[in-house]
Amino acid sequence: MSKIFSNFANLFFRTINIMINITLPDNSVRQYNEGVTGLDIALSISEGLARNVLAAKVNDEVWDATRPIFNDANVKLLTWNDTEGKAAFWHSSAHIMAEALEALFPGTKFGIGPDIENGFYYDVDMGERMLTESDFKAIEDKMLEFAKENQPLVRKEISKQDAIDFFTKKGEVYKLELINELTDGEITLYESGRFTDLCRGPHIPSSGFIKAVKVMSVAGAYWRGDISRKQLTRVYGITFPKQKELQDYLLLLEEAKKRDHRKLGKELELFAFSANVGLGLPLWLPKGTALRERLEAFLKKAQKKAGYVQVMTPHIGNVNLYKTSGHFQKYGADSFRPISTPVEGEEFMLKPMNCPHHCEIYKIKPRSYKDLPFRLAEFGTVYRYEQSGELHGLTRVRGFTQDDAHIFCTPDQVKEEFVGVINIVMHIFKALDFKEWTAQISLRDPNDKEKYIGTDENWEKAERAILEVVEENNIKGVIEIGEAAFYGPKLDFMVRDAIGRKWQLGTIQVDYNLPERFDLEYIGNDNQKHRPVMIHRAPFGSMERFVAVLLEHCAGKFPLWLAPEQVTIIPISDKYENYAKKVLELLNNYDIRSQIDNRSEKAGKKIRDAEIDRIPFMLIVGEKEEAENTISVRKQGHGDLGSFTIDAFAALINDEINKMIE
Ligand SMILES: [Zn+2]
Ligand SMILES: [Zn+2]
Repeated sequence: MSKIFSNFANLFFRTINIMINITLPDNSVRQYNEGVTGLDIALSISEGLARNVLAAKVNDEVWDATRPIFNDANVKLLTWNDTEGKAAFWHSSAHIMAEALEALFPGTKFGIGPDIENGFYYDVDMGERMLTESDFKAIEDKMLEFAKENQPLVRKEISKQDAIDFFTKKGEVYKLELINELTDGEITLYESGRFTDLCRGPHIPSSGFIKAVKVMSVAGAYWRGDISRKQLTRVYGITFPKQKELQDYLLLLEEAKKRDHRKLGKELELFAFSANVGLGLPLWLPKGTALRERLEAFLKKAQKKAGYVQVMTPHIGNVNLYKTSGHFQKYGADSFRPISTPVEGEEFMLKPMNCPHHCEIYKIKPRSYKDLPFRLAEFGTVYRYEQSGELHGLTRVRGFTQDDAHIFCTPDQVKEEFVGVINIVMHIFKALDFKEWTAQISLRDPNDKEKYIGTDENWEKAERAILEVVEENNIKGVIEIGEAAFYGPKLDFMVRDAIGRKWQLGTIQVDYNLPERFDLEYIGNDNQKHRPVMIHRAPFGSMERFVAVLLEHCAGKFPLWLAPEQVTIIPISDKYENYAKKVLELLNNYDIRSQIDNRSEKAGKKIRDAEIDRIPFMLIVGEKEEAENTISVRKQGHGDLGSFTIDAFAALINDEINKMIE
């Protein structure tokens, strides 16, 4: 069908026969008849490509692959492998789901149906009818039926009045409200099979691309997110171009559910939330605190080696401090209200950022170039308001501790400092078994220099430094022009976890702004005053977020050096408890975190429980072990390792730990 469709466009426009230049992403330029479509371009390259083209990016705007192009343009053909291709696929699927809902439940009124990170939804008003899980199968079947019909999604430009007439006749009150906000001359409808929707597009050429469908869930959603408006039914779905991809996705969801850090955090007694303490304010339980302390100690050690000094600053600061830094303007109005003192009328803010405090530490005394780089590190707790509905486990909280540091240096030292920070980041990734990561380098837009502060010379120096460091360290990355903050370029790290999900972690950011605002200076070797450059960096991001990512990455099976309990000693019967105590004492001497399981359970049950609790090693002691002064070692997930002396076992543990963190 898609082929017929594009030929039709060709025929239609062939009479005019004006040639236009199409520039492809590899910078090659091809000539086509005016009115060529993305699909035609794909066909002229290969049939295989044409079969996979979902949409086309025409001069940075995503278009239907079937929409004619009349002027010279840069064109990128989008497939399932492109985020924007997927978005068009999923958004188009929302239309097909709406068509199915209208067919199955006549009288349904439609709100909006966007694509989301994984799939799409449609907000619908079904009157008194409650949609339940038992309806999902029928919706999926209907969607697949429409997919098989290979319905083209046809774009139609329409006048505002005609659009109003059309949707008035259908009684589509929500669409009418949306139309009222649109400008005449810019309104388009899309037709797929029996369903016509108000939509800006873009869409995939036809429904036939959809091969697998799953309705995921339903939820209530207020029309336009306004609690004073009617609550609609939000139907979530996901679709794929191959059945196998749906199966893989469902498996991944199952796996993700098992790894959900909120579930694991509860099971492993790491952290908890209490409504009495407040939403989004995590309580770290003893095991979680111990875990956090080990992470902190690990990072402190690496930072000390790299020449950082540790500081501590208060949880609140005078409002004027944040007015100087600009954070009040950014966080003040939409965040926690300032706290005022009863008598003096002073105003304080909960600390949203540690940077202003560190600038004040810098200013305590005059600095010379000989003092630089000056590297201040703090596990600093900050507070930022998030709406209660946005909170999520440890990844979206209202109070969190950053593994923060600020490096004050000369412009010439930026590169070396970046190398130092990247070394720490790589050290962390290795120690925590993150094998895949990518970086995003955000640079300024050279055509829009007024947007940024700081001198050209310094920007060029810093940007070149970042690019060189990334290249020299073989870091895979994307460069985003124009994505830098107004105050400096930055480098962000994303890791891929054990089941392939991407997480944003640490960031390194150059800043020319705060040194200016705080009037920071150093005396150079020319005896003149200069501004230092400030680098913000937090390799974990925050302790909360990092622990969440780590939990989901390792499914609660922490690397040995980090495990809350490294060893459980299992006496075969209470006769051997004394020997177990002796083993425990010896392990304590080696700083190996151990515990005796002296419950009156069978050894087999204790082993199973230790496996479930993900304790890395189980030491079984009985008659033979006591007689020979040895232990029988089992490794979690690996089974029996045989008989060891305590010294040999301690050496084994040390070895494993050193491999990861030295
Ligand atoms: Zn649409
Ligand atoms: Zn900072």
